[in-house]
Amino acid sequence: NTFAEIDLGEALNLNIQRCKYVKPTPVQRNAIPILAAGRDLMACAQTGSGKTAAFCFPIISGIMKDQNIERPRGVRGVYPFAVILSPTRELACQIHDEARKFSYQTGVKVVVAYGGTPVNQQIRELERGVDILVATPGRLNDLLERGRVSLQMVRFLALDEADRMLDMGFEPQIRKIVQQMDMPPPGARQTMLFSATFPREIQRLASDFLSNYIFLAV
Ligand code: AMP
Repeated sequence: NTFAEIDLGEALNLNIQRCKYVKPTPVQRNAIPILAAGRDLMACAQTGSGKTAAFCFPIISGIMKDQNIERPRGVRGVYPFAVILSPTRELACQIHDEARKFSYQTGVKVVVAYGGTPVNQQIRELERGVDILVATPGRLNDLLERGRVSLQMVRFLALDEADRMLDMGFEPQIRKIVQQMDMPPPGARQTMLFSATFPREIQRLASDFLSNYIFLAV
């Protein structure tokens, strides 16, 4: 049970070694193969379980394999391949740090966007290129309304701490965001939902956003 046994791509495996992650945590051991096989996932996992790497590794690995995909340029802002939604600025920054560490020398570019800071600086950052966009739902909606981001090319969507996002009232923003991702061909988007708890509202999100998903509780 090592990361080397999971084929995530050479550059990512090297970064995993550099960061001294030797043994996958239970959520990583279970979630990574499911996600690497392209399945949607609903995972119940707590902070500290290693869930960030569990969704970041398959996303980075998937984008590395897809890097020759043509993206439209400059028509409706920038076109990320992956979106990771997080309830707070602090968590978004933690995810960004983790994703950036592991995308070192992979050619995968990670950008974070959150509210409470001037939007123009984040727009300039996005315009330098973005593959993985880590964002809070409010700020991402703002960027969508300004026409600065297009979700037309999104193949990976991760919702982290989904129960907290709903507690904070982000459900309408999340639904608006996901509506803009329904790109052809149908089913091309892989969705992963992480939540510490699994109340009725989260079950509803899972059935609305995920297709044929695997449920994982660790
Ligand atoms: P998380 O639950 O994603 O917030 O991760 C909790 C902490 O564990 C973070 O500081 C990670 O860098 C660390 N971590 C995650 N996975 C591993 C692993 N397989 N080996 C060692 N440390 C890890």
